[in-house]
Amino acid sequence: MKRVVIIGGGMAGLAAAHECQQQEGIEWQLLDASDRLGGKIVTDHVDGFVIEGGPDSFITQKPAGVALCEELGLESELIPCNSAAQKVFILSNGQLCELPEGFRLTVPTRLMPFLRSPLFSWRAKVRMGLEPLVPPKRDNEDESISAFITRRLGKEAADKIGGPLMAGIYVADPERLSLLSTFPMFRTLEQKYGSLIHAMRHMAKRPASGQPMFMSMKQGMGQLVQAISQPLLKSCQLGVHVDAIEQSETEFRILCNNREIGADEIILATPPAQAAQLLEKIDAASATELRQIRTVSTATVSLGFALPLEGIHQPMDGFGFVIPASENRRILACTWSSMKFPGRAPQDHALMRVFIGGERGEQWLDRDDEGLVKLALAELESIWGLTSVPVVSRVYRWPNGNPQYDVGHAQRMHQLLESLAARAPGIHLAGSGYRGIGLPDCIASGRGAAQRVVGNELT
Ligand SMILES: Cc1cc2nc3c(=O)[nH]c(=O)nc-3n(C[C@H](O)[C@H](O)[C@H](O)COP(=O)(O)OP(=O)(O)OC[C@H]3O[C@@H](n4cnc5c(N)ncnc54)[C@H](O)[C@@H]3O)c2cc1C
Repeated sequence: MKRVVIIGGGMAGLAAAHECQQQEGIEWQLLDASDRLGGKIVTDHVDGFVIEGGPDSFITQKPAGVALCEELGLESELIPCNSAAQKVFILSNGQLCELPEGFRLTVPTRLMPFLRSPLFSWRAKVRMGLEPLVPPKRDNEDESISAFITRRLGKEAADKIGGPLMAGIYVADPERLSLLSTFPMFRTLEQKYGSLIHAMRHMAKRPASGQPMFMSMKQGMGQLVQAISQPLLKSCQLGVHVDAIEQSETEFRILCNNREIGADEIILATPPAQAAQLLEKIDAASATELRQIRTVSTATVSLGFALPLEGIHQPMDGFGFVIPASENRRILACTWSSMKFPGRAPQDHALMRVFIGGERGEQWLDRDDEGLVKLALAELESIWGLTSVPVVSRVYRWPNGNPQYDVGHAQRMHQLLESLAARAPGIHLAGSGYRGIGLPDCIASGRGAAQRVVGNELT
């Protein structure tokens, strides 16, 4: 029997455990420092509101999320995002402007809605229209999201779309965020079609997959944690903070809570900084590389209101709004949660959540919870006119919770994994710090690590 220890019980660690459970010849256990499983997935049910502290959904384009739900028998519990309300607003010169219809990611594919939109200046519209004339980059060097969009579509597109919509997903600075580690398909499309506008028009002609872009669970993402953990609980130990890993001739020794656990292989599913600390004694070089993966801190403030909302000068009929850095606001974005998914708020109520922090907003996170709620409400009033008093509020903090994929991240990962395989074979990394922050990526990385343990990995 191979003894496997999984350190970290977030989505990646749980997916690894789920995979180990299905393999023969493995005796596994999972250790997590906290008093619950799920890591950044937290769902609270408060007075009929379904409140997400971390992720509220997952993208369907990457199959690992839907596939896991199907394996767990959760198909009937999956809910699609509300396709009738897929509008997104962008704050532009203090006004909430709708992202014009026909925009696919950053690229306009329909002329009239784009030309009519007040979101871009005429100068920017002309510049974006010239995109097909910009020669494609032929080499495979990484570049930042901002550099890429500026090069292809101009500076205004980079500021208004690239920053809040693309880098926003990563709570990242678009000037530092790697294109190849986040949206590599853009480089592929640029090289294949010579132009993003041509590529998007070509893709728009393909029959739609019929699948909604995002899915969630009826009872919130915590339902996925509950379903995956149920059969695993016997082998999960909570409240176990791992302090170090040592290596002898024959095994790894995991030091935690004044005891030692022996293991033949380890799946390290903690965030990179904690992984670095644990690897220090056995592979200092990999630990140094891991420390180079920067993180930023964020908080989410969820607010529940009775309808109708008072004072708003823009109806709540979309997924919410995002804010470019140039607008100099104290919040990053606001999701209209009860519009995005059904069942998030009781009858005649609305739920929304405000994102605070990231590179340009970490200074606001010093405030206590009441201070953050006040800040969120003041910003919603100033941006959107909202004067209603919330009936429910919840604050969730994610210190160093958002890994940053800086330009060169893919190369760093390559070196890191090579060095780890050479110096500490038997240790496998999994989780959001490495090759994708979204839940499907975390699931795939956890399952991939478990498959490497048994030598069944397909790639
Ligand atoms: C506010 C927010 C919103 C998000 N929204 C979305 C979304 O809508 N869709 C999406 O796909 N993704 C979203 N994400 C990203 C996604 O939630 C995360 O990338 C993912 O949950 C990370 O999972 P993980 O298993 O890698 O790490 P984590 O969830 O961080 O789990 C790591 C675990 O390791 C444990 N641990 C750490 N150190 C030790 C130690 N020394 N010993 C023992 N245990 C240890 C921790 O207790 C924790 O449980 C969001 C993230 C945040 C913060």
